[in-house]
Amino acid sequence: MSEKPTRIALVTGAAQGIGRAIALRLAKDGLDVAINDIASKLDELTALSNEIKAIGTGRKSSVHTADVSQEMEVKKMFEEVVETHGGLDVMIANAGIAISKSFMGTTVEEWDRIFAINARGTFLCYQYAGKQMIQQGRGGRIIGASSVLGKNGVNQDLAAYAGTKFAVRGITQAAAGELGRHKITVNAYAPGLINTSMAQGLDENAQKNHNWQPGDFAKWVSDRSILGYNGQPEDIAGLVSYLASDEAHFITGQTICINGGTYCD
Ligand code: NAD
Repeated sequence: MSEKPTRIALVTGAAQGIGRAIALRLAKDGLDVAINDIASKLDELTALSNEIKAIGTGRKSSVHTADVSQEMEVKKMFEEVVETHGGLDVMIANAGIAISKSFMGTTVEEWDRIFAINARGTFLCYQYAGKQMIQQGRGGRIIGASSVLGKNGVNQDLAAYAGTKFAVRGITQAAAGELGRHKITVNAYAPGLINTSMAQGLDENAQKNHNWQPGDFAKWVSDRSILGYNGQPEDIAGLVSYLASDEAHFITGQTICINGGTYCD
């Protein structure tokens, strides 16, 4: 019996946090993993790529710096990934930023910047992944990063961010509808607060904007969850691992809550 070919994944925003945990988890699951982040994160990406290669004999990994909001950079990244690995089976459009601003305090420049990275970046990565997967004709998995704030936008400090994460849900449904006949599933994760640099930044902003003490923001969120604690990047990586697996073939168009019960839908 012939062995199944090794699948190839691309993870954006992989230098740290949730993207890093996803890249490591997919490599442990047996995929070759191409990783992306912005150019200033090259050292972190190179170290992660070496860590991935050390996971098992023959495990392949490559580094592709690109700003996901720039179409030409995204196009080049996909060309490099396909040239290096021979194809693409799993796309994780994880890269994103947060801007801690109220609705009334958000400027047009801030709105445009966060939508360029979180929404346009996701649209571009889904679209280029879709083109490659359709051309290959062997199906695929596309997975994006929404948020609990893409389900419930009521948070006085993250107005534009919530808009971008609702956009990710919409793009996920639209892409799923169009790509399903090609056996490509499209889903997103909607995490609650996960212990990363982004969460640290939100905590620092709460200190600045509301005179909160260090750690108060994380506690404020965990106090509102059913389980009483916040998540770790590996929790999201576990969900992504399942969504990328053969077993998840019947799940598409979904944005899946993973938030300890801070919000239930
Ligand atoms: P993080 O800030 O720790 O990491 C995000 C990574 O994305 C960084 O390495 C950053 O350099 C990269 N990035 C930013 N802009 C980029 C661009 N234009 N092109 C390529 N890479 C870029 O964040 P995280 O907490 O690991 O979050 C990962 C994703 O999950 C984000 O989309 C975020 O919005 C989402 N999310 C996070 C949380 C949380 O609590 N941490 C909750 C819900 C959703």
